[in-house]
Parts: sequence; C-alpha cells; structure tokens
Amino acid sequence: MISTQTSCTDINESGLIHFDTAKKTILDALPRLHGTQQVPIEQATGRCLAESIISPINVPAQTNSAVDGYALRGSELATDTDETSFTIQARVLAGQFLTEACLANHCVRIMTGAAMPNDLDTVIMQEHCQSDGNTIRIDARHSAGQNVRHAGEDIQQGELVLQQGKQLSPADIGLLASLGLTEIKVRRKLRIAIASTGDEVYSPASLASVGGLYDSNRYSLLAALDRADIELIDLGIIPDQEAELLKQFNAAASYADLIISSGGVSVGEADFTKSALKASGQINFWKIAIKPGRPLAFGKIQQSTFFGLPGNPVAVLVTFYQFVLPAIEKMLGINQQAIAPILKARSLNSIRKRAGRTEFPRGIVSQNAAGELQVSTTGKQGSGILSSMSIANAFIVLQHDRESIQPGEWVDVQLFSNLFH
Ligand code: AMP
Ligand code: MG
Repeated sequence: MISTQTSCTDINESGLIHFDTAKKTILDALPRLHGTQQVPIEQATGRCLAESIISPINVPAQTNSAVDGYALRGSELATDTDETSFTIQARVLAGQFLTEACLANHCVRIMTGAAMPNDLDTVIMQEHCQSDGNTIRIDARHSAGQNVRHAGEDIQQGELVLQQGKQLSPADIGLLASLGLTEIKVRRKLRIAIASTGDEVYSPASLASVGGLYDSNRYSLLAALDRADIELIDLGIIPDQEAELLKQFNAAASYADLIISSGGVSVGEADFTKSALKASGQINFWKIAIKPGRPLAFGKIQQSTFFGLPGNPVAVLVTFYQFVLPAIEKMLGINQQAIAPILKARSLNSIRKRAGRTEFPRGIVSQNAAGELQVSTTGKQGSGILSSMSIANAFIVLQHDRESIQPGEWVDVQLFSNLFH
C-alpha cells in the first residue's frame, strides 16, 4: 500500500514540502515491478538485466598473440649479446593451433589472435625482426612474456560479469556475446500511460481555436520515455470533465503500471484532475518548494502508480526529470544512479533566488580556457517558456537554503546528456 502522507515536520508554514522530502516519500512508496522476459541479446540494449551473469568461459579462451610476429621461448632471448637468431619451424594463423613441440632456438611465425603454442611464451613483433624466410634475427631489446594475451585476462571463468539490475549498454551486449550467450533474462517492460488534460489544449494535428494552445506536454513526455524498457500508452487529451477524467484514468489503471498526466493539479477553478482524483482517497496533492513545478499529485489509481504533473511545459519536464524518472528507474529495478551525477560549474550570471525552495533554472554549460566548467542561464525562466529548456544543456540546481548567486560562484549542474537515454 502506498503511503503518500508526509509528516507535519516536513511541511513548512506555507504548506510547502521540501524537495528532498517529496522525492524520498515518492521513492519509498513505489512498488517494484514483477515479471521477467527471455530475450535475444540483439534485442536487449537498454533493457534491465534480471539475472546476474557469471562467465561460463575464460575470455580470451586461449592464450594468444597480441601482434603479428614470431613466437618463441623467452628464456632463449639474448641477455648480453646484441643479436640472436631463431629458425622458423612453423606457421600459425588466427583460428589454428600448433600441436607439435617447438625445438630449441626455433620460433613459430604467428598472427594476431592465433593461439600460442603451449611451450612458447613470448612474441616478437615482425617489425622488430630481420627475416630471410628461414630464420629471424633480433636484437636485445625484448623481454620474456611480451606481446601475449593470457587466457582469462579479460574475464575469468566463474567471474561475475554483469550484476542484475544493470541497464544494458552496447558494450554489455558485446560482452554477453563474447561469453557465447545468445539469450538473457530481462525485466519486463514498464507500461506507462500518458495523458494531457485541459479544454484549452489541442492536438498539434488540429486547428487550435482562440484561447486554445497546442499540446506540448504529452509530446515531451512521450519523447522522454521512448526507451527500450518502456511500453507507452498514449491516452491523448482528456477534457476538463470529472467523469471523463475518472473513466480514462480507471481504464488506464487496468493495464498500466504508471499513469502520468499533466495539468489540472493546482488550485484553479477548472482543476478537475484534482477534484476527480481526490475522491479516490489514494492520491496526495502536494505543493512542493521547488521552482518551477510547485503542484504535484502522487499516489495510486487501483494498482497503478499515478503522477499528476503541473500544466506548464517547463514545470512538466522539471518534475519529470526530478521525480518521475528516478521513480521509473526504481520501479524497473535499475540499480545504477537514476539520474545524472551533479557537477560543479561557475555561474557566469547573477541569479536571483530566495532561500526556502529548490530552483532549477536552465543553463548552458561549457568549459573555459582553463578547462573549468562554467554555466550561463538561458534567459527568461518562466515555467511556460519551453525554449529555455530547448536551448539549455543542463539544469542548474540551486538548493533549498541558497540565496542569490553572484557571478563567479560555484553552482551544481545536471547535464541533460546524462538524463536522456
Ligand atoms: P493547469 O495547471 O491545468 O492550470 O495548466 C497550467 C498552464 O499550463 C496553463 O497555462 C495551461 O494552458 C498550460 N498547459 C496545460 N496543459 C498543457 C499541455 N498539454 N501543453 C502545453 N501547455 C499546457
Ligand atoms: Mg488545466
């Protein structure tokens, strides 16, 4: 059962909840997604691994040559003289294996990746040899054991290779293939339903009438959640009618793990999402001490988790990245850090701020000549100004207790490139 109640100590005099408290309350209340799926590794990129992978083999499987050259015994290398010579006894190419023993002071012509003959331990690069086709001459700069890749050097048989909960990257897929695995178990996709609400909101495919505006929120959210581990359900635009909102949310709750709507959660006269959902008793309506994005609804509709985001387009994206995305990654069981690491950059502007709320102005982060990160704000920061988000490459994170920022002060930044999957 989700508990969405906050204690009185978390709420200040004006009824605003601290950002950290809201985030913790959400994360603590989330149900964990059940269900796994067996998929071919070619279809597993971006999916969350549901089993830990123990290597069934050594990688590389055999000790092999790292270069094209001549394999020999390191103990036969010259120590004091300038030059030694070896007779070429045989040739091994990648994919071949030499079974015969190598005679004293003989060597074997070997190609990159070819298995080392059992009794040889050193390879001389061909560029460092003088060869007449039958013998090679080398100088004294070589050392025993060089240019050889040892069996199990990358991965040992029985070693833990990937931990369950890892969101699989292209390198992980290659790694799985290198172990000879073709299928793996991943968590099933999270089913997310997305709705916009509001009588003034029009589909971009229709003609907005006077007083109307085009729906951007649903598109931002659908784009942000266009991922391999998510199945999206587009609920379209729901009008400001209690009965219609309830009908649509209840229908979505029968198949979605998570429902995200935007608009209608503040205190306006037409905030029907709020009145429709209040009746269910399972949804909490918070005013969070953040800017932008103050109102937020969170709770349950039947067995589905529900987020009611604000209506303003920037507030939607801020609350999405700060609350919803970490929630999604937790539900999916992803055990990496859910959102971007916080970096420090020097502010190039002054930024007005008062203590008592966490603010997320949008910024452009760059490096100065000394290699230090610096950030400038993207002009007007109104919560309806979506272009402030589009031209930015980072959130500037100004913590609850901070006051106005002077140019040159360090601020925290969260790069968007780490947020987008
Ligand atoms: P609300 O919280 O419903 O009063 O919405 C706050 C503001 O966000 C209003 O100016 C709405 O017109 C605007 N808004 C609501 N939904 C959307 C949407 N889907 N796309 C763009 N703007 C929206
Ligand atoms: Mg509205």
